[in-house]
Amino acid sequence: MIALTDPDTVRGPILVDGSMRQRLTTPVVEEQQGAPSDRLLQIALHRFASSFERGHPPEDQEEQPPQELAAALLSKVDELSDIRDRRVLIGIGLQVEERWLQAGSLIRLRYELAPGDHEGLVLCEATGAMVTAVSRDREGHLVATTTTCRYCRTDTCGLCVAPARPCAVCQILVCSRCSSSPEPDYVARCPACVGLRRLSWVERRRFHGMLAPGGRVLVGHDALHGVTLIEATAG
Ligand SMILES: [Zn+2]
Ligand SMILES: [Zn+2]
Ligand SMILES: [Zn+2]
Repeated sequence: MIALTDPDTVRGPILVDGSMRQRLTTPVVEEQQGAPSDRLLQIALHRFASSFERGHPPEDQEEQPPQELAAALLSKVDELSDIRDRRVLIGIGLQVEERWLQAGSLIRLRYELAPGDHEGLVLCEATGAMVTAVSRDREGHLVATTTTCRYCRTDTCGLCVAPARPCAVCQILVCSRCSSSPEPDYVARCPACVGLRRLSWVERRRFHGMLAPGGRVLVGHDALHGVTLIEATAG
């Protein structure tokens, strides 16, 4: 009996906004106690051998020629059929390496499929979870979930050196490259909140008299939004 993962039926993971350019599969043969059918094994290994010949990469020096592996596997089958009293259960899983093109970069996704499995999962680098889709963020992390800076529109994750976080004052999502951490508290905030200034008496009377009859009013603006802070008045 054979548990088999056919390369043609693999549903691989998704790299968001990328396109898969190449998928290389290497069978992983597992031997266990049991009673195999030599004929099925022959069929399976020939099936893989032919897919090897179709799938070899054009200009890649570092890949081992898969024909060698196929030949090694096939010779093993011949060995097995000679030894009549040896009974093993064979499962053929896959090691898969995919090459994706995303934003001009070539990205590799690697995953393994156990014998009989067809749904490929990849590791989220931020959480360690196995997921069906990853995005590549600004710093090159492959992660399930990213946070987008509202200012530069780039994606970051928790592993990033300059991640997008809510502005400490107004909560708009801003990355560390687009935010500043000025004195006296050095807390990261968006451009509008860095530029907060107190309204003059005349401005207050014109625009904010109704909102803040007694307290101070701070205002700041940037390309995305305006922030108005109104001091709460006692009573
Ligand atoms: Zn940003
Ligand atoms: Zn990241
Ligand atoms: Zn802000």
